[in-house]
Amino acid sequence: MNRQYQDARNQLIDSLRTRGIVNEQVLQAMLQVPREHFVSKPFKQRAYEDVALPIDKHQTISQPFTVARMTELLEPKPGDSILEIGTGSGYQAAILAEMGAKVYTIERHFELYNEARRVLKDIYPDKPIQCRFGDGTIGWAEFAPFQGIIVTAGAPEIPESLLKQLAIGGHCIIPVGNERSQVMHCIIREDEQSFADYPLEDVSFVPLIGKQGWSGDQ
Ligand code: SAH
Repeated sequence: MNRQYQDARNQLIDSLRTRGIVNEQVLQAMLQVPREHFVSKPFKQRAYEDVALPIDKHQTISQPFTVARMTELLEPKPGDSILEIGTGSGYQAAILAEMGAKVYTIERHFELYNEARRVLKDIYPDKPIQCRFGDGTIGWAEFAPFQGIIVTAGAPEIPESLLKQLAIGGHCIIPVGNERSQVMHCIIREDEQSFADYPLEDVSFVPLIGKQGWSGDQ
């Protein structure tokens, strides 16, 4: 592997620790996944900066700190079925797969879906990662319930369908707010009927567009 990327990746993981990420499994997964494969060519040299970077279709690959933080809140265990809404570059899906989860990821832009699927197949030919093209706000009923659901785009409200597909004890991590800024929520399904909702820090994500999200054609 390219030594330059390896050093930069080690430094990034150190800085995530300094910023308060404590889950060792998350940090180890981030040490393994080659982020340079998920960013577009002009940005490869910046793959290990702790910033969001542009990908195709006016979308972004999330900032590494955000990926680490959301994954820590999600608490995926090996063998868990995890649903991700907003595949984007595929980087978050790769982290989840690296942690041993069965990953189900949905993307509404065909080009992004196609490219992420190609990169993920290339890097992880044998890991259980299923990509789907379509509107993720309605979830993926066929494979429910999920031990964890992670939404990597900002929602106007928490989609009902996703809560229905969350296993008891499962965590749903989702930014909720307006189209520019949101609050990260961690929702834990306590039993069939009740959900505990923990609003956390302020964040800023691209909009979640779909039946139970924003309308629009970005
Ligand atoms: N998890 C991604 C971050 C991608 S940005 C990564 O690691 O790179 C958010 C993504 O959500 C964008 O690609 C956007 O197209 C997608 N998105 C927005 N609304 C969606 C919806 N309803 N269903 C599926 N994907 C959606």
